[in-house]
Amino acid sequence: MKYRRVDDRVPIFATPHTTGASMRTIVAGNWKMNKDLAGATGLVDALVEGAVSLPTNVEVVIAPAFPFLAESVIRARGSRIMVAAQNCHEKESGAYTGEVSPSMLKSIGVQACIVGHSERRQFFGESDALIGAKVAALLAHGITPIFCCGERKEERESGGHFQVVTEQMKGALGRFSNAELSCVVIAYEPVWAIGTGLTATKEQAQEMHAHIRSLLHTHGAEVAAAVPVLYGGSCKPDNAEGLFSQPDVNGGLIGGAALDAAQFAELVGIAGRLKSA
Ligand code: PEP
Repeated sequence: MKYRRVDDRVPIFATPHTTGASMRTIVAGNWKMNKDLAGATGLVDALVEGAVSLPTNVEVVIAPAFPFLAESVIRARGSRIMVAAQNCHEKESGAYTGEVSPSMLKSIGVQACIVGHSERRQFFGESDALIGAKVAALLAHGITPIFCCGERKEERESGGHFQVVTEQMKGALGRFSNAELSCVVIAYEPVWAIGTGLTATKEQAQEMHAHIRSLLHTHGAEVAAAVPVLYGGSCKPDNAEGLFSQPDVNGGLIGGAALDAAQFAELVGIAGRLKSA
């Protein structure tokens, strides 16, 4: 069965496809620092209620803020919706005031965790080395890292975008074995497109996703076939069709549009339709 129940406490993501299997499609919602308890639980409930009519070929993930994770896991239990965190600390436990460890996330049934989001890099100074340490800690607990990479506006304008993404991938993911890498999900998020209303064209997205795939290929065809590469950056129902139809785009990491149940469900529906072949 493709979708395991959340309360199995086994990350479904940790079972990568073998070569030859069709690539997985994932639509994940990054709620960022939005919603209060009533807003977050209301959104989870609305998504769970509508989940039965979502296409079954798409893995659906939501990432509420820390205070709402446990309640979201409980409310999503038994549905197809999986719950992710937006960040974690790289250490197991200890005197790190204000931080949350992967083992804590694991203990409440969280299955995935976004790492290296550009907002973490920009506002909290996260380096590729630190992000790599977080990926390692998550993998050790069987939590799927959703690793974000992407260039800033000036880096694209100067033509350095492929180099930037290559360095981010090598800097954070270079140390992992093929088996470990196969358990990672990558999100390409051009920084200039996040929350700006500017979206990469479908050609720009495909070109970068193909580049990421070729980097994965250096670890072998099995790794390249196992790792879904999501697009993120002002992805909405009115532009998702072009993006999701690209062969190396395996779904999306969605910010603003994930805060609305109808828009998010529409995005899942578009991904399901386009990737059903
Ligand atoms: C994000 O922050 O991960 C994101 C993709 O945001 P938005 O869709 O709002 O651009």
